[in-house]
Amino acid sequence: MSDLRVGVLGAGQLGRMLALAGYPLGMQFRFFDPDPHASSAMLAQHIVAPYDDLAALDAFADGLDVVTYEFENVPFATAHYLAQRVEVYPPPRALEITQDRVAEKGFMHAAGLSVARFVPVCSCSDLEDGLDIVGLPAVLKTRRMGYDGKGQRVIRDASSARAALEDLGTTNLVLEEFVTFDRELSLVAARGREGASVCYPLVENHHREGILRETRAPAPGLDKQLQRMAESGAQQMMSTLNYVGCLAIEFFQRGDELIANEVAPRVHNTGHWTIEGAVTSQFENHVRAITGLPLGSAAPIANAIMLNVVGSFPSLERLLMDPAAHVHDYGKSPRPGRKLGHVTLVDDDLERVERRAMRVRALLA
Ligand code: AMP
Repeated sequence: MSDLRVGVLGAGQLGRMLALAGYPLGMQFRFFDPDPHASSAMLAQHIVAPYDDLAALDAFADGLDVVTYEFENVPFATAHYLAQRVEVYPPPRALEITQDRVAEKGFMHAAGLSVARFVPVCSCSDLEDGLDIVGLPAVLKTRRMGYDGKGQRVIRDASSARAALEDLGTTNLVLEEFVTFDRELSLVAARGREGASVCYPLVENHHREGILRETRAPAPGLDKQLQRMAESGAQQMMSTLNYVGCLAIEFFQRGDELIANEVAPRVHNTGHWTIEGAVTSQFENHVRAITGLPLGSAAPIANAIMLNVVGSFPSLERLLMDPAAHVHDYGKSPRPGRKLGHVTLVDDDLERVERRAMRVRALLA
């Protein structure tokens, strides 16, 4: 038994899949989440307390070898407090950067990646000036706490600019150029404690209503040059931060250009396909990285399509009519727009995996 004890801040589905990847390696897990019904509650010890409860954080840290987190809105102060007691990976500095869209864009740009034109907005006049710089259409976003398309509005004209400001509040916003992209891509990379890193192939993502619906891996028809650009940006970011763990970057592809949109300092929904579609899953590589174990190969084993189950869960019997489908149910109660699980299909034959995905898509519709 490896006897490694891992603490996870956040007990949602990502935490759950981290534990499921760590158990075969003999690891033990403990979760911290204010929600008593979180996805991982059944899997391991679960401390239910607010993130600023210092006594609960002390009890959580007690006896752990390492702490990680499964979502980027963990308060920085929580990660910082824990880091004085136990090793915390990825480094809390990564949270500080990725919690603020303006700092995040600066960081991506410093790593050699292109980003859309952007202007911080704190007032109506900032917005007017910003629209002159960025042009129309544009996207106004909250600087903090945005996820799944929440906290953003597309601005097409002066009247929608006023409405967007009223909806989002006037302070702490960022105005971005609207990118007319060909498709959305993302990259997951992992870096170990000794500095070695691996990158999964770029994947193609499809969103609806701001929520990820599907990922195709590797991204079909991918130019090797794009993969090199994405990997170079990821490696630059990870070495700047002395990063440990998985990191995901979301991109827009426009022609042969790759425009970085967001970074997540964690395992990512667009990497779920790696559980069955890659030699080593993102979850296993994350727990290997943070516990100081060697990383596993990030090579894909075939073509994979991952479909998210959103809002309601179709019957398992019907999903499993495809004898090679991999169904993941996160154990969450249904709610419109909520990610409840995912289905992954892996196949050597690209056309066949597309046909199989079409059947699953019909069940999810
Ligand atoms: P985000 O919260 O930044 O990940 O944005 C959610 C989704 O909104 C993205 O996946 C895109 O589909 C879309 N989006 C965000 N920013 C832009 C932009 N600047 N231009 C065009 N579409 C965008």
